[in-house]
Amino acid sequence: MRIENEIKLGFKDVMFRPKRSTLKSRSQVNLERTFKFMHSNNEWTGVPIMAANMDTVGTFEMALKLAEKKIFTAVHKHYSFEEWNDFLDKASGDIENYIAISTGTGENDLDRITKVIDAHPKLKFICIDVANGYSEHFVAFVKSTRQRFPDKVILAGNVVTGEMVEELLLAGADIIKVGIGPGSVCTTRVKTGVGYPQLSAIIECADAAHGLGGQIISDGGCAIPGDVAKAFGAGADFVMLGGMLAGHDESGGEMIEEDGKKYKQFYGMSSATAMEKHVGGVANYRASEGKTVKVAYKGAVENTVQDILGGVRSTCTYVGAQQLKELTKRTTFIRVAEQENRVYTQ
Ligand code: 5GP
Repeated sequence: MRIENEIKLGFKDVMFRPKRSTLKSRSQVNLERTFKFMHSNNEWTGVPIMAANMDTVGTFEMALKLAEKKIFTAVHKHYSFEEWNDFLDKASGDIENYIAISTGTGENDLDRITKVIDAHPKLKFICIDVANGYSEHFVAFVKSTRQRFPDKVILAGNVVTGEMVEELLLAGADIIKVGIGPGSVCTTRVKTGVGYPQLSAIIECADAAHGLGGQIISDGGCAIPGDVAKAFGAGADFVMLGGMLAGHDESGGEMIEEDGKKYKQFYGMSSATAMEKHVGGVANYRASEGKTVKVAYKGAVENTVQDILGGVRSTCTYVGAQQLKELTKRTTFIRVAEQENRVYTQ
């Protein structure tokens, strides 16, 4: 046994130190970024926020709405071939720039996405997502996906440490998804005791990825717009959101009415609810590692997006970053033992 004594930090442990700035208004801040990818030789421009590949978040409806704002959706993996055909036949324009097709590493997974991509070669992004990105099997799957699709942008995860970011990039991934345990409906830390505070994970993984010319996605743990800004400030190239985008018209999940109030169901992809829905129950050798909750119905996702983008723009003006790209260079975090004043919070 060994203990690392350096305390790792989460979003709640820091705030941005304000800096002198020449920016007069939030409207001067540009939140778009352009990335060139390590293997696939593609270039992408957009607002680097992603809807999570959860069936209550990363839906086709969400993708259509977010693409209007140049925001990305990792579409969940439970759509059928026919549903993909239907969606892509109807969706016009450049939707392929703002969506990824997701996959696990199961036996039929590569065949399933190959069938969709062969029918729709304009699809550019593949998201290979497993709860634990540390297995050799996962690395092998990333390698074979890269061989099969040399010109696609491959997102792969999840991991939280620099050496595994490097291994996955060298295996053929372009962008690494970072986060174990921070998610709003995740119970991995409760069930397993495994995890890594998200801010430190971002800082360490971004450093490893950028050294090789790759990118990272901070995945999970953002509960408020300030957390999204902190993730970018720490060095995340993309920030993936689940809970913050749940509960909207465009989100999946059943609508629930109780005492005249509206809610939408939201659940982790490893929750008993998801496993019952998609694989006929929780297998007898495992525990569910996700929660099922109801979140207050929030209406159109557009309003939430404006709130998030407005918050990040404001962060940029506080530290003098005219472009989102400059935010991390202009970030000094101060460690804190307090966050907001909650005297009027219910
Ligand atoms: P959030 O933005 O809600 O804090 O986090 C979203 C992320 O939580 C997802 O992108 C995914 O990485 C993670 N996640 C989703 N469902 C589950 C689950 O059932 N268990 C665990 N451990 N993580 C989950």
